[in-house]
Amino acid sequence: MELERHEYDVVVVGAGGAGLRAAIEAHENGARTAVVCKSLLGKAHTVMAEGGIAAAMANLYPEDNWRVHFRDTMRGGKMLNHWRMAQLHAQEAPDRVRELEDWGALFDRTADGLISQRDFGGHRYARLAHVGDRTGLELIRTLQQRTVALGIDVYMECTVTRLLTDDDGVTGAFGYWRESGRFVAWQAPSVVLATGGIGKSYKVTSNSWEYTGDGHSLALQAGATLVNMEFVQFHPTGMVWPPSVRGILVTESVRGDGGVLKNSAGNRFMFDYIPDFFRKETAETEDEADRWYDDKKNNRRPPELLPRDEVARAINSEVKAGRGTPHGGVFLDIASRRSAEYIRKRLPSMYHQFKELAEVDITAEAMEVGPTCHYVMGGVEVDPDTEAARVPGLFAAGEVAGGMHGSNRLGGNSLSDLLVFGRRAGLAAAEHALKRIDRIALPDEALADAARAALAPFDREGGENPYAVQHDLQQTMHDLVGIIRTAPEMEQALERIAALKERVANLSVEGHRQYNPGWHLALDLPHMLVVSECIARAALERQESRGGHTRDDFPATDAEWARTNLVCSRAPDGSVALTRQPLPQMPGELAEIFEEVS
Ligand code: FAD
Repeated sequence: MELERHEYDVVVVGAGGAGLRAAIEAHENGARTAVVCKSLLGKAHTVMAEGGIAAAMANLYPEDNWRVHFRDTMRGGKMLNHWRMAQLHAQEAPDRVRELEDWGALFDRTADGLISQRDFGGHRYARLAHVGDRTGLELIRTLQQRTVALGIDVYMECTVTRLLTDDDGVTGAFGYWRESGRFVAWQAPSVVLATGGIGKSYKVTSNSWEYTGDGHSLALQAGATLVNMEFVQFHPTGMVWPPSVRGILVTESVRGDGGVLKNSAGNRFMFDYIPDFFRKETAETEDEADRWYDDKKNNRRPPELLPRDEVARAINSEVKAGRGTPHGGVFLDIASRRSAEYIRKRLPSMYHQFKELAEVDITAEAMEVGPTCHYVMGGVEVDPDTEAARVPGLFAAGEVAGGMHGSNRLGGNSLSDLLVFGRRAGLAAAEHALKRIDRIALPDEALADAARAALAPFDREGGENPYAVQHDLQQTMHDLVGIIRTAPEMEQALERIAALKERVANLSVEGHRQYNPGWHLALDLPHMLVVSECIARAALERQESRGGHTRDDFPATDAEWARTNLVCSRAPDGSVALTRQPLPQMPGELAEIFEEVS
């Protein structure tokens, strides 16, 4: 078999914010490091991030600090977050932002020259360091430049299809060049998964083509576990019209900067959906909500800035009740509330996005928006301090990792998560590798087996078409495991997933290995399917509603489930096994924060 082989200490799969930050750290700690990514360097999903990086830098509000950020994050996640991850994240995010600035990132500034911070849902103070509404681009540009300057090897347009392991843990990874279809193997005692999310399993999503859940599935296959998979975030505001752009994100900054949600009768309906959990900190009247933008100390936040799960559910209810827009969304209006100049300056990408894709001028008319599958809270179960998965030598950081965001992520907390835990994963991966480097090998049989599996769709004739299977999977997840869930629907979803599994085992593709998108999809589909099964199984098991998991048949939160995580693993027969695990106990000194910050 023709195979390109390489040897490293640390291989990072993924070149988004988490992957690049991990690679930089591993390299700086003496590890020979490579980054492998499906798309071009600089094109990872992180580049799409708009609003900003959450970090309690206290540049606008001196009273902000890590304790308030920790508390907001835990409350946003409805207390299901791993407390230690939320603590490290809140404590370390400001240093990671300053470090990014030292490396050349140019943030927007306050009047006195500090890094400016903007408001976002669920954050008590303006906390998101940003660059207009193109923060992800600046983050990636900075990390990418540093990666290249340090001389880290990058394998781009290269997909990893399998992790390689022996009895003592990770030994490397196997993949193929997307352009030529040729195989490549990396021998390495440490692999960091930084592959992002799973949104492409859903029909309407803000996610890019890369989000097929590869890392989640590779980890499971290698013997690691996934936690919190039932929690999928539906961002309240995606575009709904025209159909070709349905799902594309409309940043929360629109609401942070003054935009409000209205139904077809012109009512600001979010006032009807304030849950008791957030009532104390949310404005009761439109006047109070409007005053908050200029005087945050003496007024409470507008309900449009409740955490995403609350807003997405409210929009869903309004549309279902027949108060939606002509295209099945609600109105997001900033035009009647801010000057055209302000909107174009603060939200340049949104202005162009609507102008070019929908022929809507957002400085003059309201946008039509509706929920879109945006982020997966669930992911690889890791040790909070090192990001080590249950398989020695395997690490995970960024969206592919679980635990940090509990049942619902606050906006801005992902970019900071990438930096904080990317750094920690890179460090731990380098330390692990330097201890194990002399004792690994990649047996020919394992490589040949990985190659055989990858080529199988070429060997079948007249089998299933990958695009048809993808379509049916996306429709299933959209219809049956979406924002609002019920047991009969999820049981039906699992039946359909079982049938889709059989079809996936019979996929066939035509043509050659040279850039063949049908083949690429055929290799992505098993990942999409296993991730979908994890989501559906865990969602059926959790008989309560919490964060990004709403059960119509169990609408309330439940005290027992508040103490329980669901963990997915791979059963010996290859199916997904689910176990209940007690939530890690938060130490007393952190629990006190919830009393001291009201
Ligand atoms: P990514 O940036 O997606 O990188 C994944 C990498 O893995 C890519 O390089 C990909 O090619 C590679 N990869 C995947 N599978 C394989 C494979 N099998 N082999 C090789 N490579 C592979 N969060 C915020 O905090 N603030 C925001 O303002 C914000 N705005 C957002 C706006 C949009 C439109 C979207 C969709 C998300 C937004 N988010 C935001 C969320 C945030 O952008 C993501 O959660 C985050 O960027 C994920 O980063 P990552 O490093 O984990 O993965």
